[in-house]
Amino acid sequence: MSDEQNGRKTKPDLSTKGIDTQLSHLGRDSHAYHGFVNTPVVRASTVLFDSVEAMEARNADDTNKPKYTYGLNGTPTIDALADTINTLEDAAGTVLVPSGLAAVTIPILAIAKPGLRLLVPDNVYWPTRRFCDGTLKRLGVETIYYDPLIGAGIADLMACDGGCALFAEAPGSNTFEMPDLNAFLAAAKAHNVITMIDNTWATPLIYKPVPAGFDYSIQAGTKYFAGHSDLLIGSVSASERAWPDLHRTREQLGVQAGTEEIFLTLRGMRSLRVRLEQHEKAALEIARWLEAQPFVTKVMHPALPSDPGHALWLELFKGRASGLFGFELAGTRDQGRAMLNAVELFGLGYSWGGYESLAVLAELSHCRTTRPWLGGPAIRLQIGLETVDDLKADLASAAKAAGLPTG
Ligand SMILES: *Cc1c(COP(=O)(O)O)cnc(C)c1O
Repeated sequence: MSDEQNGRKTKPDLSTKGIDTQLSHLGRDSHAYHGFVNTPVVRASTVLFDSVEAMEARNADDTNKPKYTYGLNGTPTIDALADTINTLEDAAGTVLVPSGLAAVTIPILAIAKPGLRLLVPDNVYWPTRRFCDGTLKRLGVETIYYDPLIGAGIADLMACDGGCALFAEAPGSNTFEMPDLNAFLAAAKAHNVITMIDNTWATPLIYKPVPAGFDYSIQAGTKYFAGHSDLLIGSVSASERAWPDLHRTREQLGVQAGTEEIFLTLRGMRSLRVRLEQHEKAALEIARWLEAQPFVTKVMHPALPSDPGHALWLELFKGRASGLFGFELAGTRDQGRAMLNAVELFGLGYSWGGYESLAVLAELSHCRTTRPWLGGPAIRLQIGLETVDDLKADLASAAKAAGLPTG
């Protein structure tokens, strides 16, 4: 294709293309940048205007409004990633923020008001709980922690004079229960409740919250989007009705993701589908292998037919998974410590979604109030891109070193 007026190639319509084409082509306009493949990094605070009149037009509602006015509110670099994520999310608008946690707190702040009730799953990412019990409580918002397996019973919690909002996470942190998101959305619709979901585990490649009916889709881009454990970033995508609130809140709070982080995340997005599929495949192979090991009581991964959330996972995520799951150890917490101290390939560290495998001995006692964790020590594994047999051997020899029963 070529543009008749200037003879330059025009951009293809990517909205109708396959995911791999989208991931390769979104967020770049090479011919606007002398043909260079990647969108350059624009580092900016100040944007210069041609005249005072042009400066005065910055708040105009019409087409005379300049596209860029100040670095905090937009640059071609910010747009490249925000537009890419927005297309993947099939949303009305997307903001970028400095961390996944900021992506959690900003949509909540966009709707927070005294008397509001926020329904949050008991297995939520722990810093989300800390925010609800701290800042949000101080602002007069009441948080109710619901059992993630409550299903349609969520409707009973939605009647509140001050209004109600629903926060979801699927599957939940550390224990990976699958909530019935369609039941939640139906109840929310009936009660006119604003909804948001931390969709970091699935990414929009597996589940698209906004077309499904959520008002806000939250991503810790630190994880799979970036994919290399070298940066922090978050994104929030909104439905048509939620976008003005989200846009305004980001602007008023003055948060924006860093330029370098945006560039690296956009680079990470190019291989997202390929990486995710390898994470999925390797994690499933290890999860199945762990199910057969005597040092494991149960494996918590919704893609396993033995998992209580399997049917919901099939329905909601169409049989697709990422690379993070957990298992319950048939042993003591001390043995769990000894096992993780003995692994050589798995790193001991927080976060996940990078190319390298990680293990964490989960702390569940302080973050389960509605559905206390009654099982044994829970270990969370992020399966990276290493050779799967090496990872299995690492876990097996570490279990042995911890005095756990092995096959
Ligand atoms: C890691 C994580 C976050 C926060 O991301 P950061 O970039 O580390 O702040 C939010 N939600 C979930 C589910 C996460 O795993």
